[in-house]
Amino acid sequence: MLNTLGLPPNSLIALIGCAGSGKSSLSAMFPRSWVLSSDRHREDVADDAGDQSANSDAWNLLYARLDARLGRGLPAVVDATSADASDRAQLLTRARRHGAPAVALVLDVDVSEALRRNALRPPSRRVPPAVVVQQHSRIAAADLAAEGFARVVRSGELPVLSTVLHRLAAEHGTRTDLIEATFGTEAARLITWDVPSRAPEHRTATLAAGGEELLLRYQDGGDPYDHRFEVEVGGCPNDADCPGPAWSPVHHLGDLLAAQAGNPANESRCDACEGDEYGI
Ligand SMILES: [Zn+2]
Repeated sequence: MLNTLGLPPNSLIALIGCAGSGKSSLSAMFPRSWVLSSDRHREDVADDAGDQSANSDAWNLLYARLDARLGRGLPAVVDATSADASDRAQLLTRARRHGAPAVALVLDVDVSEALRRNALRPPSRRVPPAVVVQQHSRIAAADLAAEGFARVVRSGELPVLSTVLHRLAAEHGTRTDLIEATFGTEAARLITWDVPSRAPEHRTATLAAGGEELLLRYQDGGDPYDHRFEVEVGGCPNDADCPGPAWSPVHHLGDLLAAQAGNPANESRCDACEGDEYGI
């Protein structure tokens, strides 16, 4: 991948950009396992990406993971502001120790745009505007080649968006998984299509955790705007003597939560006495 971007393989890539410069969206170019983010490490140790008191613990972990990857000859992307030469020197020392070429990937951004994005962040992650301006000018003034970076690349020189899309397509397939698209990646790990499945347009799936289960089915009447998941909600809503089962449409995790609590968010419908509107 680095070859196709014209970057040296097995390199340490330091993203360099002020707060609000778009480092996180740029880092989405790279496989997740490559990216070591200071925000993410603060969140991991302190449950708050903006908690500066967690810096020491967060950076110790980040450096340990960086050493582990570079020691195996694997590339690493460090997603941090790196506005100070002293911060960059820490990275350069580690790159040298492991014989990894150090690449400075500098975010091309106007300070006004960075200030605008910074202002949109949640309060705990917002940096004082004067600090953003200071970071921006310090980065602009830095002589990164003289500091020891083997390559200095500007984000505008890279095909960022197409690289992101290619990576996502390779990881997830060009057709997004239906369960994952509806309920999210983490819930998708708990849901399996039942085998043998019924006709593809009436498949059932089970969401299981801790010995409990919810039964889902996917209803597709062939109309591109008329397909959905439903969850089995037990008793018939019309008649206590009817064996049911009844199903209620679910469009997202919130609907599943409501159904699980016995209070379906959407009107339920009984197969036995109302028939299935999709004609099973
Ligand atoms: Zn019924």
